[in-house]
Amino acid sequence: KASVMDGDKFDYEEMEDSLEKSRAKSALEALQEERKKLPMYRYRDELLQAIQDHQVLVIVGETGSGKTTQIPQYLHDAGYTKHGMIACTQPRRVAAMSVAARVSQEMGVKLGHEVGYSIRFEDCTSEKTILKYMTDGMLLREFLGEPDLASYSVVMVDEAHERTLSTDILFGLVKDIARFRPDLKLLISSATLDAEKFSDYFDSAPIFRIPGRRYPVEINYTKAPEADYLDAAIVTSLQIHVTQPPGDILVFFTGQEEIETAEEILKHRTRGLGTKIAELIICPIYANLPTELQAKIFEPTPEGARKVVLATNIAETSLTIDGIKYVIDPGFCKMKSYNPRTGMESLLVTPISKASANQRAGRSGRTGPGKCFRLYTAYNFHNDLEENTVPEIQRTNLANVVLTLKSLGIHDLLNFDFMDPPPAEALLKALELLFALSALNKLGELTKVGRRMAEFPLDPMLSKMIVASENFKCSDDIISIAAMLSVGNSIFYRPKDKQVHADNARMNFHTGNVGDHIALLKVYNSWKETNYSTQWCYENYIQVRSMKRARDVRDQLAGLLERVEIELTSNESDLDAIKKSITSGFFPHSARLQKNGSYRTVKHSQTVHIHPSAGLAQVLPRWVIYHELVLTTKEYMRQVTELKPDWLVEIAPHYYQLKDVEDSSSKKMPRGAGRAQEDK
Ligand code: ADP
Ligand code: MG
Repeated sequence: KASVMDGDKFDYEEMEDSLEKSRAKSALEALQEERKKLPMYRYRDELLQAIQDHQVLVIVGETGSGKTTQIPQYLHDAGYTKHGMIACTQPRRVAAMSVAARVSQEMGVKLGHEVGYSIRFEDCTSEKTILKYMTDGMLLREFLGEPDLASYSVVMVDEAHERTLSTDILFGLVKDIARFRPDLKLLISSATLDAEKFSDYFDSAPIFRIPGRRYPVEINYTKAPEADYLDAAIVTSLQIHVTQPPGDILVFFTGQEEIETAEEILKHRTRGLGTKIAELIICPIYANLPTELQAKIFEPTPEGARKVVLATNIAETSLTIDGIKYVIDPGFCKMKSYNPRTGMESLLVTPISKASANQRAGRSGRTGPGKCFRLYTAYNFHNDLEENTVPEIQRTNLANVVLTLKSLGIHDLLNFDFMDPPPAEALLKALELLFALSALNKLGELTKVGRRMAEFPLDPMLSKMIVASENFKCSDDIISIAAMLSVGNSIFYRPKDKQVHADNARMNFHTGNVGDHIALLKVYNSWKETNYSTQWCYENYIQVRSMKRARDVRDQLAGLLERVEIELTSNESDLDAIKKSITSGFFPHSARLQKNGSYRTVKHSQTVHIHPSAGLAQVLPRWVIYHELVLTTKEYMRQVTELKPDWLVEIAPHYYQLKDVEDSSSKKMPRGAGRAQEDK
């Protein structure tokens, strides 16, 4: 009897196996057929010829024409990977991951083998990797280890039109190495038509244009401005779903929080509509979306159903989702803005540019005529929107980039070959900050501290906090905090029906008004004590996904500590030591309480407020240090810890003087203010 069963099993397995193989084979064949339908395909040979003839080539083609997924494969087939890898940079992590996944499928290989991706804190490549999709920031970091990029035979700076800070810096660096590496091929690819600017910058490099096919898109505006674009977007989605012919919907939101809210409301409202209407499949996509869920947006919509994709800017040009016929554009995105005078940076929801609005609209006309619903008026569009988005380099803090360039031995920053130079003021501010953090000396040269800081793929203030932890014997604790901070604001969750429970659970970690940084450390350590239990996360309203990510980041930071020869030591019981270490990096972010309960930053006297989500929001200590500012209705400090003013003078005597931290107004404090200090 046993032998029969064995036999059955054997046959069955073999059958499954060959079925599996033939399924995989036909899937692969189907993918190959799809590849041939892309606009890129017809220009394959011409493109390869142009690349052979020119060292630098600017490639322009409509989004979705196959630049990102196809060109590296063409180059591989043509033999360019024999002498090195092909790098293809993406401004966004999700794009790098998703495109690499797609290309590995098309090539029938396992992701991470021949085709891989590299994003901050996640390296999915191996010895075998020949096509490497990576964020532009990661390629920038590779210069630190390999200044001539010797392992690469081709560098494709993709999505160049996005003009991210890292892409702009890469331009200067790759242009430079192309001069002494004649064997290196350089491709600059972009979705927009003003490619002349790229061509001019790269010494009149030829432009290769891939004619796109675009169908007409009908643009609709609202008659009056919308007070609540989130609600308007939801209503419009449902109206399209109920009244319009088949075709999927793409809605642009500014970030994860908005998308999650919209998802919840949409689910609720479609449930209310019952079975009378067709199924509406809701697919969110944003940077922190877990990988398993990212693939969902690409799954074909089943017959009779409709898909609605809720996306950030990522779907504007980086990702192409087939089948979109309707676009809803509220007209906003989240943008960094930077005040070079004060050195303050914040993220804020900003109107998009006309160029962006047109890109968004174009997403509906890829496979047939489309419709775009702009949730603003035609007047707004014509009169209020800027022509183009200002390149990031002109509206951001440059400290990180300056530190990287200094580490690469590039000293004369004012004469760096920028495509669009940053404001000189912003460069000076960056130099000043790096000097204050002791990363540079008075001559602007990299110090030992600076060299160590540059090893960490983090903002200089975070890197400094880590490097300084050596002095306070708390490196082990500090990297946990840094890891938790770097996963963003997605640690705690707060379901609508259990807000009180969630808040109580959160406040448990704030016992003793330790501040947000230490609370994050407590969360991490408690999780670790349960042996990284998922159940524990559930019970404490903590996102297990974010925690796992923090653990990965932490592991990498621990590895980097070893590289810069800082010993792992924990000093968990000495909270002041930990706070001083934080202060060593974040002293420029100090603020003092005002009579009315708001705060003033110590250095530039800006009015700021404690974010309601901060553990100290009700306590209002007299002096605080914050991780970041976010501007919503007010300028809010997020991740806030109490500070002793003496520390500022002790830790950053070159930055603060005694008069900055003298507490002359203490007697006029309102009742309750500064309570945290009095309790001690
Ligand atoms: P471009 O870079 O010119 O904008 P892409 O190479 O990104 O174009 O896209 C070419 C095609 O590949 C598009 O039809 C797109 O839908 C498809 N594609 C890209 N990434 C994925 C993915 N992860 N899953 C499924 N299809 C994808
Ligand atoms: Mg692309």
